[in-house]
Amino acid sequence: MNSSVSFGSKFVSVLVPVPVGKDETFTYLAPEDVKIGERVRVGFGKREVIGYIVGESSAREGAKSITYRIDSEPVITRDVIELTKYMANELFVPWYRCMEAAVPSGLKLAVKGAKPRFKRVLSIKGSIESAEIKTAGEERALSCIKIIAGHPETFGITDIMRKLEVSRNFVEKLIKKDVLVISEQQIQRNPFSKLDLIKKDVMPDLTQEQKRAVEEIRDADGKIVLVWGVTGSGKTEIYLRAISEVIEKGKGAIVLVPEISLTPQTVDRFRARLGDKIAVLHSSLSSGERLDEWMRLRDGRARVAVGPRSALFAPIDNLGIIVIDEAHEATYKQNETPRYNAIKIAEKRAKFLNIPLVLGTATPTCEQYYKNISAGEPIIELPSRVTACALPDTKIVDMRQELAEGHTSIFSRMLIREIKKALQNREQIILFLNRRGHASFVLCRACGESIKCPRCAVSLTVHLSERRNQKRVPELICHICNHRVAHPSKCPSCGSHLIKAFGAGTEKIEEEVHRIFPSARAIRMDADTTAKKDSHRKILETFIAGEKDILIGTQMIGKGLDLSRVTLVGIIAADSSLHLPDFRAEERTFQQIVQVVGRAGRAEKKGLAIIQTYVPSHPAVAFAAEQNVKKFIEYELKRRKASNMPPFTRLLQWTFESEIEEAAVNGARELSKELQTFPGEILGPAPAPLEKLRGRFRWQVRLVIESNTNIELFSKKLNSISYSKRKDLRVLLDIDPLDLM
Ligand code: ADP
Ligand code: ZN
Ligand code: ZN
Repeated sequence: MNSSVSFGSKFVSVLVPVPVGKDETFTYLAPEDVKIGERVRVGFGKREVIGYIVGESSAREGAKSITYRIDSEPVITRDVIELTKYMANELFVPWYRCMEAAVPSGLKLAVKGAKPRFKRVLSIKGSIESAEIKTAGEERALSCIKIIAGHPETFGITDIMRKLEVSRNFVEKLIKKDVLVISEQQIQRNPFSKLDLIKKDVMPDLTQEQKRAVEEIRDADGKIVLVWGVTGSGKTEIYLRAISEVIEKGKGAIVLVPEISLTPQTVDRFRARLGDKIAVLHSSLSSGERLDEWMRLRDGRARVAVGPRSALFAPIDNLGIIVIDEAHEATYKQNETPRYNAIKIAEKRAKFLNIPLVLGTATPTCEQYYKNISAGEPIIELPSRVTACALPDTKIVDMRQELAEGHTSIFSRMLIREIKKALQNREQIILFLNRRGHASFVLCRACGESIKCPRCAVSLTVHLSERRNQKRVPELICHICNHRVAHPSKCPSCGSHLIKAFGAGTEKIEEEVHRIFPSARAIRMDADTTAKKDSHRKILETFIAGEKDILIGTQMIGKGLDLSRVTLVGIIAADSSLHLPDFRAEERTFQQIVQVVGRAGRAEKKGLAIIQTYVPSHPAVAFAAEQNVKKFIEYELKRRKASNMPPFTRLLQWTFESEIEEAAVNGARELSKELQTFPGEILGPAPAPLEKLRGRFRWQVRLVIESNTNIELFSKKLNSISYSKRKDLRVLLDIDPLDLM
């Protein structure tokens, strides 16, 4: 497999790691049988580097030979090579870095580290008859032959030793006698081997609406199909049918889901229908496991890749469809270089291959909606649930009114009443709050300071950590850098004892549930309770099995769950994310409420969602309560137009980070001066909303450009900008940012 190269007989173009703006591909000589998409080692300057064969090349005098072939087969398909090149141009990131983002990290390590695992296994050498003749009369040898003949390439030496209670020497003698032969067999690390959740597949008769959707997708080559269906409208069933059709035609498929909803529930549904044609590329797999799944796709044993963002680059020949579920989620945008948006790149891959891209969601972003409308791409609406159950009723509780009437509990009177009722009826309840911890900040009422992280400009969150002596000790934790300190008894600024914790988090909700409903069985699901591998699954299983009455959680509970016994959803503070300094904060709040409300009432009984808020008439809350996505999108588009924000413009965002505040400020100033000559509106320089992170000061500059600006033409000009290249300064460019903090 891994072979040194003696002499080459064709010229190939090899992509090597160099900084942006420099030539990135070079011509090398390679053996006749190398393929595009293989990795090779090549001499480059004085070093040896790993490169990717990205194309054939015309003959070049003096070209060096490649030194080593790492793969015997391509690790990526040709269209993905094109895709990474496109990403590089769009994002102003070196091509090589885009390539690295497209292959799993296990593969990068494949040279050393996470190699495919091999096992030395036994088979019969030659015919069984000859083996039996060679060992005639030896009873144990004969039974050994019988077992191995029945299961060639399965048992290793130790397996046989254990099974037949023989010595190693005994087996080795049989090998020496040429009765048995040993060979290396690649073992599959099956990521599912520990899970025994496989459900029986039920294939329902499609509703008229679903049938229409499947037909429309069938004819949507090269189109972006927005499947806009309320929660429970049968979107997943539509994907499954469309994918089955594609597979029957001998083609493959990619399904992207948000990491968090890559729950066994979701994966099981796909596996139940499509069996081992599925490869799952979950980031919780070990890099070795992911590598195995990648290889299964590469050699065609699996034809459907299911995974988060990066599964988009899966090496599937003859790809027939790409599906992106929960397409409104910001997680499809990568938050580190290269900062690509998987939806945009998927669009490119789909157009390039002339296959459908299906974007499914109950709450499309106004940007996607606008795009489909203005580009004439299809939108399929599924306004009702498939099963008899209707969407839940919703009620808004004005928490200002509660307070005015003397009720200070974090649970309104209506919510308490409904929780009691549901508990009595043995129905299940979800309580949602998008804030983990016990309290969100500690304030000194003498000097007015809140206790902040010394490294980040954010308040510390109170957590009641579990300690060894079973006593709960309050701790302050930074949700950005995880800095921890013991909860002080007096203000660190002025020494006053008048400090108090404010803003309830999920821990506090759990405490209140125990206090008010002592007999209720509650379980909490947030980043703190799901840190261990598998804990996410365990919590869900416990809840689904009915061993708990109340599930308390952050946005984690809103995704990809089909919880059929939940009749009541309580949204504790609907407006908790509404006032963030981000023009998408309203839309995200709206989407979150709609998604969480959608968790209720999938049972026969109609569900109820109670939305607690201080701003009941805000469109993000009011339209969410009505479950009126269309009205909200209209409102939001008007607002975006008036404020000159996407989708009516595009944004470029630079963040300057430095441990020295002056360096960050100066860098930002310098850039905004240079940008004066650019078409567009400059915003800033200004401190970023998170103005200090992990000890680094952060300043931002944004450029608002017309939405039809060709970014590629822009890149040359941008590359020539020469803000100070000081070592103590880090400059991050985000094109079409989703994270403005
Ligand atoms: P969505 O993805 O839009 O939330 P799902 O595909 O998960 O919707 O469907 C919701 C529930 O309805 C699932 O339990 C699913 O098995 C079931 N379901 C989907 N389509 C049908 C159908 N045509 N007939 C009966 N049940 C269906
Ligand atoms: Zn103080
Ligand atoms: Zn911090």
